[in-house]
This record gives sequence, C-alpha cells and structure tokens, in this order.
Amino acid sequence: MDPVDRFRDLLRIPTVHPEAGGDWAEHERFVARLAELYPALHAALERERVDRSVLFRWRGASAERPTVLMAHYDVVPAAGAEGWTHPPFAADLDAAGVIWGRGTIDDKGELVAILEAVETLVGEGFVPANDVYLSFGHDEESHGTGARAIVDELERRGIRPALVVDEGGAVVDDVFPGVDRPIAAIGVSEKGIANVLLTVEQDGGHASTPPAMAATVRIARAVERLERHPFPARLDPPVRAMLAGIGPHARGVQGWAFRHLGLTAGLVTRLMARMGPETRAMVRTTMAVTQLGGSAAANVLAERATATVNVRIATSSSLAAVGARVRRVIDDPLVRVELVHTTEPSPVSPAAGPAWDAVRGAVEAAFPDAVPVPYVMFAASDARQFTRISDHVYRFCGMRMTRAERAGLHAIDERVRVSSWLETIAFYTALVRAV
Ligand SMILES: [Zn+2]
Repeated sequence: MDPVDRFRDLLRIPTVHPEAGGDWAEHERFVARLAELYPALHAALERERVDRSVLFRWRGASAERPTVLMAHYDVVPAAGAEGWTHPPFAADLDAAGVIWGRGTIDDKGELVAILEAVETLVGEGFVPANDVYLSFGHDEESHGTGARAIVDELERRGIRPALVVDEGGAVVDDVFPGVDRPIAAIGVSEKGIANVLLTVEQDGGHASTPPAMAATVRIARAVERLERHPFPARLDPPVRAMLAGIGPHARGVQGWAFRHLGLTAGLVTRLMARMGPETRAMVRTTMAVTQLGGSAAANVLAERATATVNVRIATSSSLAAVGARVRRVIDDPLVRVELVHTTEPSPVSPAAGPAWDAVRGAVEAAFPDAVPVPYVMFAASDARQFTRISDHVYRFCGMRMTRAERAGLHAIDERVRVSSWLETIAFYTALVRAV
C-alpha cells in the first residue's frame, strides 16, 4: 500500500458521532486499522486511550520541551449521498488526482499526514530532539470532551508543551486581492463565542386589542438597536501582525497601506470592515441574529418573545464586555439578556520565538512560495483546550486550499488534491525534524 491507498482506506470508515447517526463501532474500527496500517509507528511509540481518543508518545532525546501534534478522527455526517459528485465515504480518486470524500480536509487529511510523516521517520531511525505527542480526538465535531480529557491527563502529569499544532489556517491565495504570493495563515488565537438570548415576557391576550408595545415589537426594537450599533472595528495586535506580514507582498495602495500601518491603521480598519464578510470578521466582534421566536398562533399575542444573537468575540474583548455592551445598546430593562454556551477568546500565542519559528520553518520548507503570517481563527477548535497547559498553540492544517475546496468543509464535495496532501506530509515531516 502507498500513502494514498492508506489515506483512502481510512476515509472509508465513517467515524460519525452516534448522535449524528454514526456508530461507535466505526470509531473502534478506525483506531484498530491504524495499528495495521502504521506498524513501525505503533512499535516505536507508546499508545494509550483517553476515552475514545488516542494519545501517542514518541520519546525524544529530551522530555524537556515536548510538542503536541493534534488532529481529530471523527467527521461530520454527509447527510446521505445527495448532491455529492462522488459518494462521501467511497474515497474515490479521479483522473485529475483528486480524492473525494468526507474527512479529506476535516480532519483525516491532517491526521493521516501526521501518521505518514512519523511512520517514515521512525523507519529511518529518526529520534526527535524532544518528545512528540500525537493527540487524536474522537469527538471534536460534536463539541465533545476528548481533547479536554487529554489535556487533563497531560496536566496531571505536569507536562507543559513547548508547542501545540492543530487544524486551522491553510495556504490560500484568494482572500486578499493584489497579493502576489499565497498566504500561509497560522492561527495564533481563536475568537470567543456566546449565544446572547434576548427575552421579553408579557401578559398575552387577543391580537385585536394589542398593548402599546407588544413583546414581539420590543424584541424587534432591541434587535434593530443592535444592528444599528455594531461592535467597534479595530486592529487587534495579531491582525495587525498579519497585515504587516502581507504588506511587502501586496501591490498598489493596499500594499503601501499595509506597510505603513502606523499612519494608516484607522483607514485600513474602516476599509476592512466594509470589504466583505471575511475581512469584517477580522476587525470586530460580530453579531448574527440567528433565531426569532413569538406566538404560536397568528391571532394570539406572544407571552414570550425571543431572539438569539450568535456573537463571535474579538481577542481584545471578553464575555463580560459583550454582555455589558449589549445591555447598554438595547437600553431596555424589560428585555432580559443572557449569555449561554459561552467561550472566552483564546489567549494569543506569540508570532515570534522558537515555537513560532519551528512552525514557520516547516511552512517555508513545504510551501516555499507562501508567506507565513499569524491570524485569528473565527471558528472554535479543540486547540483552545491546550491553551491551559501551553502558551504556544498554533492552528494550521498544512494544506493548500482554494476557495472552492474550503467550501467543502462540513458541506458536499469535500475533497483534496493528492499533490496538496503530499505537501501536508512534507509540512509535518519538516515540523517534527525541527522540534
Ligand atoms: Zn475539524
């Protein structure tokens, strides 16, 4: 079997959470299959199970500055095969060298690339300078507890990783116009999350005799006030560092502005807030009103009207600041404001120093044409659990992705080019050699 055959073999095991229609037996089949496909790795590394997650320890010359390479082996469901060009769990390889299927980029692509890199290095007799842990979660997609349980276990053993790398940014060339080299976006933090629940409760009654302001109208007014007063746009330090990194490779006025942020920060911030949804999300805490609730019948006044606002919190802000601002902007004591399912923004890992340099060096080795820059992830990942035991947590998937390929994430036609996946193996190989 060659690397591509092993990858396709593992893609065919539908490791979907039981609550999403899967079966734990497939998870166990996947873990058992790893031992068959990667015998040298399994002989050289210590393996343990933490719940259904898997933790490998590869002993290095020193245990002083351990590295953790993270990935997750569960996948989101594919909701039948409808709409897919190739069946989602067939792992078809087409004539153009593209592998199609659920998990190709999220996240078996990374996980299997790590295994390939380690298997080869073990076979060559390579011993890492420091311990390398492979932390493979089983329930990332269902907001599970696998990664947290591994962090608990490492913390109990007093292990403080000098470097943690998980899925996240990619090598992209279509986010910023006028930039003539691909950007390798290395996540140094991730935004926080809160669902802000707005509720108005009121006596009901018949819709033919409405009160001066019905509960639904009060909720609508609150939502309208929030829409009119978005969170202020600003350049948080990691975003500033990203633009400064892009600057030398950006053409025209934009390039000049990125290279002179001392003068242009205000202007650049305003432009980014207007350029499009992605750049806007980079410069502010965003709010999306995702759910509205009222009465169950057309002729009955709502006794309870609700709105849910999904908020993604910038690294310079906090849950407390979000709650305070929302209450102030709504300015209505009859609207109850609650924050649920909350996560603070992650601490920002430095874009300098030995850990960053190891990641940057591996990027330069695998993607010589790309410019490595820090960035802040919009989505939440298991990596944030590790910020409890490490100050150097980076989110980078080691993959080149077009906009169309990124659109396959959690959607139909998830796929990866073989040429791109081989670069991912090269990235992890260079990374392990550097730590
Ligand atoms: Zn993922």
